[in-house]
Amino acid sequence: MERVRNVVILGSGCAGNTAAIYTARASLNPLVLIGHEPGGQLSITTLVENFPGFPEGIDGPVLVDNMKKQAEHFGAEYRSGRVVAADLSRRPFTLTVHDSSTDETFTVETRTLIVASGASARWVGVEGEQKLIGYGVSSCATCDGWAYRGKKIMVVGGGDSAMEEANFLTRYGSEVALVHRRDTFRASKIMLDRARANPKIKFVTNTVVEEVFDVSKGFVTHVRLRNLNTGEAWQQDVDGFFVAIGHIPNTTPFTGQLDLDADGYIVSHGGARTNITGVFHAGDVQDRVYRQAITAAGAGCMAAIEAERFLEAEGH
Ligand code: NAP
Repeated sequence: MERVRNVVILGSGCAGNTAAIYTARASLNPLVLIGHEPGGQLSITTLVENFPGFPEGIDGPVLVDNMKKQAEHFGAEYRSGRVVAADLSRRPFTLTVHDSSTDETFTVETRTLIVASGASARWVGVEGEQKLIGYGVSSCATCDGWAYRGKKIMVVGGGDSAMEEANFLTRYGSEVALVHRRDTFRASKIMLDRARANPKIKFVTNTVVEEVFDVSKGFVTHVRLRNLNTGEAWQQDVDGFFVAIGHIPNTTPFTGQLDLDADGYIVSHGGARTNITGVFHAGDVQDRVYRQAITAAGAGCMAAIEAERFLEAEGH
């Protein structure tokens, strides 16, 4: 690898891939560090119906893989690994990267950095949940739904993700209980109406999950729920417990260097700029409002153009 890169892009979702297409076409030979969720959110979704240009819709994993191929076609380089530490105090910036597939740690120096590391699934945080991930607890219906054919499924959340997952999971489950802590929903009307019209989905509102069982058995058997209005608690049999309650931005290595808001999202300093000259943001790592594939792609394009102009002004 080159000693000092012109552009390093963190993340291989919509934002990172689009930044890679633009910077590769500008002959900047970008390095994309794939991150811990290759392909980002699109890689774990089903049919994307709202990305312009696909009147019949397109499968999320296909869309994001096409973007990667397009970037590689222009010379972008992809490497697995996630940043575990960063020194942004001087340029070139130094990134310490760990590749869990080889257990190798290496450093990368770069003149510009595009942070497109996205946001990861949020968990409810109750007893039993973490220990049973992969044994009935999941944050990805598309990845794990098939394992619950004819079984009892529960989805937690009241946003579009929860509606989408609940609808998707009715393909497999004998029943899908949608548990939400309020009785009003963040989900868009169309997604909510679709879920409400699905006879296999049962809405359980004003209700929280208090514990996931059974850690002693090593797989999910039931959960304890509590109605927040009445205080009543009860147990409900569940085989597949899917959590769809939003995401946490992947900015930990930049704490204390990049300006982050209280929830860890990057604070924009206009356009795609961060508080550090030469470091740009793109996609869900900064955007807590729109969070769409198309807005992430647009943000990746903005970051790439800013990086390109910055390097040009510096004579690279
Ligand atoms: P979201 O809109 O932030 O919704 C998160 C939901 O989880 C909220 O209902 C929230 O409840 C609930 N929640 C949060 N923390 C919780 C906790 N600790 N315990 C229980 N419930 C908790 O997240 P999202 O659904 O992942 O959607 C994110 C963005 O992606 C949105 O902009 C959405 O429109 C978009 N999206 C679009 C599509 C699509 O168009 N096909 C599909 C998926 C997502 P409260 O409401 O009470 O806070």
